[in-house]
Amino acid sequence: MSPVRKPVLPPETIGILGGGQLGRMMAQEARRMGYGIVVLDPSDDCPASHLADEHIQAEFSDANAVQKLAAASSALTFEFENVDPAVMEGLESFPSLEPLFVSRNRWREKSLARKLGIATAPFFPVNSVTDLRMACANPEIQACGGAILKTCEGGYDGKGQWRLKPEQLEAAAGPLSDSDFVGLLESDLRDLLSATTGPPAASQRSESERAPGNAPVLTAGTSEVVADSAPFLLEGMVDFSLEFSIVGTGFSDGSFHCYPPIENQHRDGILHKSLSSSNLDEVASRRAVEYARSLSEHFGYIGTFAVEFFLAEGEPVFNEMAPRPHNSGHLTMDAKLSSQFEQHIRAICGLPPGPNSSLCEAAMINLLGEDNSQLRGLEDAIGIPGLRFHWYGKKEARSGRKMGHITAIHSDLSEAERAVEKAFQCLGWVRQ
Ligand code: ATP
Ligand code: MG
Repeated sequence: MSPVRKPVLPPETIGILGGGQLGRMMAQEARRMGYGIVVLDPSDDCPASHLADEHIQAEFSDANAVQKLAAASSALTFEFENVDPAVMEGLESFPSLEPLFVSRNRWREKSLARKLGIATAPFFPVNSVTDLRMACANPEIQACGGAILKTCEGGYDGKGQWRLKPEQLEAAAGPLSDSDFVGLLESDLRDLLSATTGPPAASQRSESERAPGNAPVLTAGTSEVVADSAPFLLEGMVDFSLEFSIVGTGFSDGSFHCYPPIENQHRDGILHKSLSSSNLDEVASRRAVEYARSLSEHFGYIGTFAVEFFLAEGEPVFNEMAPRPHNSGHLTMDAKLSSQFEQHIRAICGLPPGPNSSLCEAAMINLLGEDNSQLRGLEDAIGIPGLRFHWYGKKEARSGRKMGHITAIHSDLSEAERAVEKAFQCLGWVRQ
């Protein structure tokens, strides 16, 4: 736990590294509370800049600019995890750099989850084609009936992921040569593997590490060093009944406060819809909250973060952690007494938590852009009772870009879901 510090009170200034929609929504809440805002972002018209007192337009890698941001603020925070530790030297931030360092690498975050006793899908580091074959042939992966190869770093919204079918897993364990095996994979994965595979770490292991019948298996002997720098991770497919997240906040007194599990539905690997309540039973729900709390306590986390879970056979299975307010938590702005952004601001300023109580049920849908298009139908959508419209002020729509979201509120969740679906049907993208 960090030492007790003097609370940061309005009208002091909060510094935000990153000026996208998360920075903007942090700024919105902070502004309402009376704080000043300074944001650093390279883009001249970034969403958070519209709400900031000062916009430092600079690259995130510009150490001088980051120092300037810190000097102008009484509390420093981020809206993304890929912060270069070199530019943060000597600076205090909330959260600290450690959860960012862990969660921006899938190998590190899943290894930590496992260490803390949090259930995960089977996963193995992949440094080479041989590693990939060994991981595919592992009985734990084979038992999943499918697998996903993910880049350890830099992936988001389902990018940097390739699904492997049962027949590809079977082929991995068979007598094919490595090049014939690679020939069975999707072409973009083939190219990537040949471009990024480093020294064949796994093939340097002795033959005795291989399973009888020549079916290669990854052994426990995989070195931490190799694993920690592996470019990919192979993960078993989880046969889940639903996906959900725990969005919560760690405070400087060591406490952790979260909302009930939020159900999430994805389309093409990107979050599409979130619901304020889920069909989780009490036991699974409590376990997921305890998992999130153990991560918060492990880091002495200060600020809002989210943990994404699968529900498989009634049990929560850890997918990943996001060390920042989360897309699935946007509905808290309309449905909870204190939103995830207010809790974040309170935590980073050393204030006590706000009440997390529910005001109503809510259903949220993301509005993803299309190339050179404009949103139409808002005048109809906004007339639907209970509909709340959030727009991020991005000038240019692009395919898949998060442009805004809509949330419908109601005392009954299915009514809220019906309303948000109806509003979504009214909206469409028209080419300019
Ligand atoms: P985001 O940043 O949007 O959360 P991401 O790029 O970090 O996404 P993941 O959360 O790992 O990627 O995966 C995106 C989606 O793909 C998941 O929400 C889930 O629907 C599916 N998925 C990922 N891993 C698995 C798995 N092991 N088993 C089943 N489905 C999976
Ligand atoms: Mg995810």
